[in-house]
Amino acid sequence: MRHVELARLAPDPAWLARAAKLAEDVEAHATAGTLPAMRKNWVKHWSGLRSAMYRLVGRKCWYCESPINSSRPHVDHFRPKSRVSEDLSHDGYYWLAYEWSNYRLSCEFCNSSTDDAPSGRRTTKVDHFPLLNPQSRAKTPVDAIEYEQPVLLDPSDAGDCAHLDFDAMGRARRSILIPHSPAEIAAGECRAEKSIEIYGLDRPGLENSRRIVMNNITVLLEGLEVLPNLGDMLERHIAPSGEYSSAAVAAVMTQRGQSAAVDEIIARIAAAPQYSRHAAPQATVVTLSDLMRNNLVNAGSVLAAKARAGEVTATVWHDGRLRYGVRVDTFERITSLASGGTASDGWTFWAHVVDDRRILLSDIRDEYNMMNMRGRDQDVP
Ligand SMILES: [Zn+2]
Repeated sequence: MRHVELARLAPDPAWLARAAKLAEDVEAHATAGTLPAMRKNWVKHWSGLRSAMYRLVGRKCWYCESPINSSRPHVDHFRPKSRVSEDLSHDGYYWLAYEWSNYRLSCEFCNSSTDDAPSGRRTTKVDHFPLLNPQSRAKTPVDAIEYEQPVLLDPSDAGDCAHLDFDAMGRARRSILIPHSPAEIAAGECRAEKSIEIYGLDRPGLENSRRIVMNNITVLLEGLEVLPNLGDMLERHIAPSGEYSSAAVAAVMTQRGQSAAVDEIIARIAAAPQYSRHAAPQATVVTLSDLMRNNLVNAGSVLAAKARAGEVTATVWHDGRLRYGVRVDTFERITSLASGGTASDGWTFWAHVVDDRRILLSDIRDEYNMMNMRGRDQDVP
């Protein structure tokens, strides 16, 4: 599983406007008690984002990294929109049906009720969404999903992707570098193992494909000292868009210390997990997501500000947007809404609330810029 920078999906205003209208319709059905009938006829507006999703890491499944050959891969709702297998009294996360940050690109296998393995039929993700803390499961739009602790590893979360590693046979396993969290221990659940089971990451075809990629990596690394141009092939394997590229990266890591050329590649991967010559250029403007990646603010962090009408608070959404009341929208739009249109700059409007201290976001941004400058200084030989 490779990290997919979902925030880069950024649907266009026309898509968002239609999504907002459809979400209102769903809400009206929920209020009227007619959700069950409506669920049979979802308007599949999410299909309109399929091409944009390809642009993030290519035409591959975000869960298992297999190439997607079918013409209509699934736009999976990470939080299932109609029902939750682990809680049959749950109506599904219907209010996230048209919320693009809930979409993940999936191959037919990872999100289906059939199996290609000779072991017989088996259900993969579909409506599964187990939690480490099921008592905190959000059941309505006003419940905060920020407090849920999903069991399933999420490809849009870089930290989650680090949980998976692969052995030399191409078998997925938990990374020994990631200790079980207190929540996993309390729940008696291993997120990596459960994800391997639910996404079906242990299917034999997949293990074979990973093994082939990993063997290729070994051969390429052996030849690298004498044939430096093999580096290009290597890069294509380890780029986020490469098929089974997380297994390719794992194979590179096992060769640590074998040669200077290999160590140089490992250093580049370590310095930039999303390292790819082919990746889209990064925006130079600092965003809330940048601060989140560096743990300067986190999903669920509370922001507070003084508006004309009194104190207002917002919560940091997991994809770098803000939640204000029941509305989730961009940093700029929520700032405008919460300030009554008076704040021109959210960075000097909002303060991050930590215990009883308040730190202006612009100060946190300065700290981020300092960190980056130090990082660049270290790159200079
Ligand atoms: Zn898949």
